[in-house]
Amino acid sequence: MSQEEDVIIIGSGPAGHTAAIYTARANLRPLMFEGFYAGGVAGGQLMTTTEVENFPGFPEGVSGPDLMASIRQQSERFGTRILTQDVEAVDFSVRPFKITSDGKDYLAKAVIISTGASAQYLGLASEKRLMNRGVSACATCDGALPPFRNKDLVVIGGGDSAMEEAMYLTRFASKVSIVHRRDELRASKIMGERAKENGKIEFLLSTVVEEVLGGEMVEGVRLKNLKTGDVWDKPIAGFFLGIGHVPNTKIFEGKLDMDDKGYLRTKGRSTFTSVEGVFAAGDVQDSVYRQAITAAGSGCQAAIDAERWLSEQ
Ligand code: NAP
Repeated sequence: MSQEEDVIIIGSGPAGHTAAIYTARANLRPLMFEGFYAGGVAGGQLMTTTEVENFPGFPEGVSGPDLMASIRQQSERFGTRILTQDVEAVDFSVRPFKITSDGKDYLAKAVIISTGASAQYLGLASEKRLMNRGVSACATCDGALPPFRNKDLVVIGGGDSAMEEAMYLTRFASKVSIVHRRDELRASKIMGERAKENGKIEFLLSTVVEEVLGGEMVEGVRLKNLKTGDVWDKPIAGFFLGIGHVPNTKIFEGKLDMDDKGYLRTKGRSTFTSVEGVFAAGDVQDSVYRQAITAAGSGCQAAIDAERWLSEQ
């Protein structure tokens, strides 16, 4: 059993590290678990992004991993202690709270959860091999990059995210094809109609991806029409996934209130979860904005909420 910590932070993306910077500067000596959540590496989804051009303070852009390395360095500078271990279990029914990692129990007066969300992929080996080489799960992050400009691109999915991503990509691409597995969109009427009215977007419905094609970079996609059985190769420069995200909340099931998709519920405009003293920040509680900067902002809110709550105790 370890000493009782003031704050334990679970998750090491922009939300977790911003919470760490603020709580460390408030002398709360945060202990962070940087697990292997979103993207399979510590640091969250930015670790799987090539260039970040929309994070304020970097007029020339910055690579996702470089940005996370700087943020991590900043949180260590103020004394954040970081353990590179996944958290296996939490017990929020006891005080202090109990966090189990690597078979050991850690105690904390307050906990900030920032375990993020993971983009969904189709699960093809070719998709994985060409990741960041034309395969992206974030049009807002990568769409404006040179390899995609004035090129033909595809977006996979039939929901609002796919419509939004496709419309965003038409600003740079010559043409965007939305590939959806059914003949009916899941997207809201208004988003679907907007996409249909966009002259640069075509719809390939009842169509699935068999393979992403390319050597060094994405060069095409092998598609199959489920109604006709036709299989064909379509030349493209970019393969964007818009098939949704899943929040990394498995270990909190039955312990904290979640919505029907598994996102943690927070109270009003605060970061308070359903258990007093447990706070949530970043994509784990946000299915709407999902940006590095909004995650960082809510990490700051969680730190301030935790600090005020602790001083009231
Ligand atoms: P979503 O609504 O769950 O849609 C996911 C889409 O991906 C569906 O069309 C689904 O196909 C498809 N899909 C899932 N797994 C697939 C697979 N393995 N292979 C092929 N296709 C697959 O997710 P979302 O679009 O990310 O939206 C999530 C939530 O955020 C929604 O509530 C949405 O309204 C909201 N949102 C709102 C806005 C906005 O209003 N501006 C923008 C983005 C998101 P099926 O349809 O066949 O299931």
